[in-house]
Amino acid sequence: MEMTPSSEICSVKVALHIRPLIADERLQGCKDCVSVVPRLPQVQIGTHSFTFDHVYGNGGAEPSAMFEQCVAPLVDGLFQGYNATVLAYGQTGSGKTYTMGTGFKDGCHTGLIPQVMGALFNKIETLKHQTEFQLHVSFIEILREEVRDLLDSASESKSVVANGHAGKVAVPGKSPIQIREASNGVITLAGSTEVAVSTLQEMAACLEQGSLCRATGSTNMNNQSSRSHAIFTITLEQMRKLHSVSPVNDTPDEDMGEEYFCAKLHLVDLAGSERAKRTGTDGLRLKEGIHINKGLLALGNVISALGDEKKRKEGMHVPYRDSKLTRLLQDSLGGNSKTVMIACISPADINAEETLNTLKYANRAR
Ligand code: ADP
Ligand code: MG
Repeated sequence: MEMTPSSEICSVKVALHIRPLIADERLQGCKDCVSVVPRLPQVQIGTHSFTFDHVYGNGGAEPSAMFEQCVAPLVDGLFQGYNATVLAYGQTGSGKTYTMGTGFKDGCHTGLIPQVMGALFNKIETLKHQTEFQLHVSFIEILREEVRDLLDSASESKSVVANGHAGKVAVPGKSPIQIREASNGVITLAGSTEVAVSTLQEMAACLEQGSLCRATGSTNMNNQSSRSHAIFTITLEQMRKLHSVSPVNDTPDEDMGEEYFCAKLHLVDLAGSERAKRTGTDGLRLKEGIHINKGLLALGNVISALGDEKKRKEGMHVPYRDSKLTRLLQDSLGGNSKTVMIACISPADINAEETLNTLKYANRAR
């Protein structure tokens, strides 16, 4: 039985999302091997038991409560200038894309990203008489430790070629995207498309365009398998005029200058966490697998270092530099930023081994 610290205050919240058995699993005669302890955010698989901040689905809390409980506080934090990151982790087919809403194939289901957009624009609507807002979005993916722009219209044709064959396809005249760190610690993506948006529809169009552009490679595990980390980033800038209020008639009189905030929210649909050995046939897929593991490995190390208060107090080194993924998220994990990891699992017994791996990984993040 794994131990979980319960009273420790962590900068990272971890929720578990258990999807229902899907048609394919039922057809194979799969049994549900994950049980949720009634009224507790705790699950059991075999002899193992794990506790998280929240457990959704399969008899746990309603998945529809996930946005309000896990993500809405991060959206509110943006308006106070705090960066944030939401990460969906799990093996291919466990429901990461469904949970995040990065794909457009799930009919009327609304994932977290569309809900973030709705909440963001609602809040802007209530504040816009006193504050000026500017929104930008970027959408990139990290595949084999290379950053690819999903909003660059030139890369649409590129993805078609890249899906069929090996290697990087160069786009003439376009320099590769580089992750840079400014002296104040702010991370920027030099060379990536930042789209200015002013309406919900414009933002949704960016999500859709990038989702369609996202590379998927077929593997022998799942032909929609996603080998890359997809990162949808919303940057919110705010400018507020400050006034001193006259004590006599309560009306603003003197101009006191301006207040400026800039914060970003990363919404990350991580690559499948399954091991390379299960997908590997040709050299390329294996290479992707190794690099993906590199990002997920580094992320696990960073998050567990952040969650370990004792080590943090001792000024322990947080290994952000070990992968592109952690480098990119560096200013939005830890410190004042808020992080939520949503571990996605299938309840099917055929996936028990990978599910256990996911639970262990997520448990380490707490
Ligand atoms: P991943 O992105 O982790 O590979 P997907 O999000 O593509 O997984 O989900 C795999 C399949 O399971 C899809 O057909 C999806 O529609 C279905 N699915 C995932 N989560 C749920 C859920 N909570 N309820 C119903 N179906 C789901
Ligand atoms: Mg996916």
